[in-house]
Amino acid sequence: MDCLFCKIASGEIDSAKIYEDNDVVAFLDAFPFSKGHSLVIPKKHFTDIHEIDSEVLKKVAVTFKNVATRIKDVLGADGIRISQSNGTVAGQVVFHIHFHAIPRYENDGLHFDEIGNKRSPKADESELKQLAEKLKFN
Ligand code: ZN
Repeated sequence: MDCLFCKIASGEIDSAKIYEDNDVVAFLDAFPFSKGHSLVIPKKHFTDIHEIDSEVLKKVAVTFKNVATRIKDVLGADGIRISQSNGTVAGQVVFHIHFHAIPRYENDGLHFDEIGNKRSPKADESELKQLAEKLKFN
């Protein structure tokens, strides 16, 4: 399979790894939005959040927490943005599931013009309740 992140996970393509175990690898993004911008991926290939094995996802999530804490401790980030996209329309470019840890620093000048900084009008409460009923799954 011609997958960039599989090649990074296997070491076929070199990367600036900051963490690795049997299932998960974390490395610095080659096109960072900010200092310390990292990616956390499962070593096994899964396309997106719909496909990933739940047990693997748990391992990725724990690693993600540790990476975020490490970035904060070592680089003194003031905050960390977590970003993960599924599907082209959502902005996914590499189709091997990955989680971005984007350190934010006071006055770093970064602008995320998407959901993160958007201020929406307050939703209608009854519509929210109806939608929640439709989406409930436990
Ligand atoms: Zn892959």
